[in-house]
Amino acid sequence: MSDDVKMWGDEEYWGIGYEYDPQFFLTDKQKKIQKDLIELCRTTLSVNALESDKGYIFPRKNFEALASMGLLGLFVPEELGGMGENHVCMAMVVETVARYGCPSTAMCLTMHYGACSAALFRYHDNEAIQDIMRRIDKDCLIGTLSYSDPETGSHFWYPISSGAEKDGDGWKVTKKASWTTSGGFADWYIVQTTSPDFGGDFSDLSVWLIMADEAQADVAGWDGMGMRGNQSGALLVDNVSIPANRLVGPKGDGALSNDETVDPFFLVNSSCAWNGIGMAMIDLAKKHTTRKKHVDVGLRVCDYPTIQDYIGEAIIGSNASRMNVYGMAQALDKLTNDCDWSIHTDLEAAPRSVLLNQLWQIKFQAAKTVHEVSDKMLHACGGTAYKAGLGMERLLRDAKAGWVMGPTNEVLRQFVGKHALLGFDSLDYWNTSINQRSIDNEVKKMSPEEKKVLAERLLSEANAAAAE
Ligand SMILES: Cc1cc2nc3c(=O)[nH]c(=O)nc-3n(C[C@H](O)[C@H](O)[C@H](O)COP(=O)(O)OP(=O)(O)OC[C@H]3O[C@@H](n4cnc5c(N)ncnc54)[C@H](O)[C@@H]3O)c2cc1C
Repeated sequence: MSDDVKMWGDEEYWGIGYEYDPQFFLTDKQKKIQKDLIELCRTTLSVNALESDKGYIFPRKNFEALASMGLLGLFVPEELGGMGENHVCMAMVVETVARYGCPSTAMCLTMHYGACSAALFRYHDNEAIQDIMRRIDKDCLIGTLSYSDPETGSHFWYPISSGAEKDGDGWKVTKKASWTTSGGFADWYIVQTTSPDFGGDFSDLSVWLIMADEAQADVAGWDGMGMRGNQSGALLVDNVSIPANRLVGPKGDGALSNDETVDPFFLVNSSCAWNGIGMAMIDLAKKHTTRKKHVDVGLRVCDYPTIQDYIGEAIIGSNASRMNVYGMAQALDKLTNDCDWSIHTDLEAAPRSVLLNQLWQIKFQAAKTVHEVSDKMLHACGGTAYKAGLGMERLLRDAKAGWVMGPTNEVLRQFVGKHALLGFDSLDYWNTSINQRSIDNEVKKMSPEEKKVLAERLLSEANAAAAE
């Protein structure tokens, strides 16, 4: 068999072949990683995926398998023992895990890579981070991001219930998170709080490295409809004392860390998870519809033009989304000299952040596409897909997480529209800019008496604030 034939063990792959994959983005070395990873998915990850889904089991076994290939440290610099790979390779790995292996593992890997990116952004003078990076594959050290706050929902950049203060030579950190993929199962967490000496400005955020024994997680509480292995429960870091070097980067580095690492890495990798799930469903639909016969008319399901149209449209939509994601990953590679972390010895360097508005689009599109593709693949396979046996309904449940995960698709499309029309400041992440048009409009509706009452209330509030 030639290298261009996709294999599933000793057989040719039963799904869609490489002719519909964007292989042209990959180097020969990356194609070899992909081939080995597909085999690992066949023998191990896809088998464990069933167990994770049935029993809400965290996929540590899959992480151990990924670590055996060196994939936890995929883009960790070679000087720390990592593979030193780039954004395109990372995108391929997450998509491959989601498509041929286990979507829950792909989501946990997305969060692991997000945590690695925030840590590597500031690893240069930090021994605690360097130690984790050196042992990441050998000791299978799983990281994750714990950002979402119970009080602010999907506005994960607004950790209103969290804080930190100086404690001797170190720090005391409190973090309340409503959702944390791998929560209670990860070995290390990247969390964000308002900065020590917080003075009311919620853009003043700091980033922390928290170890497993410093976090309390509700491991039994995860009961999501899909992504059942990802264990995204609540997490609490309860006024815990930590050493000085667990502050990741300088105090107040949080907003930059979000724009340069957490957001770009999450947006690329989660998009790959959704694209991978969509392709997995098309693969399954090919397998099923080419094998199922209707004896009365002597046709297979795939012989009906309607089914061919479904598959054609699903491939075209998914590949438009994949081109979008790989294109952005390639752009990030260009901007960072193939994900060279040494550029961040300059603390101001933030080349990825200039593409943030482009990156919002890829997650929106990938989550929207998988929503449509998953529906159509269910239709293509009929009632059989509605039952668990075929594996379609599990993927459909997993796919549903795409739209609702923060930044949600509602938020993303508004970001893009608002930014395009009114500029970046109009996004008002931290609820600080005043909408004078709204104020004027509401005041216009008031009677003279109502205006007087409002004016008196405002005056007394202003006097009280000035007296503080
Ligand atoms: C499988 C899974 C894994 C997750 N893993 C993690 C993780 O590892 N770490 C982490 O920090 N978080 C994680 N999350 C949490 C996620 O990022 C969101 O915080 C969470 O999904 C928000 O849920 P909510 O019910 O609070 O939504 P809400 O924020 O209450 O949203 C409800 C609705 O309001 C809409 N909405 C919200 N704000 C606006 C707005 N400004 N304009 C218009 N519409 C708006 C939303 O789009 C949605 O339709 C995970 C979520 C899922 C589903």
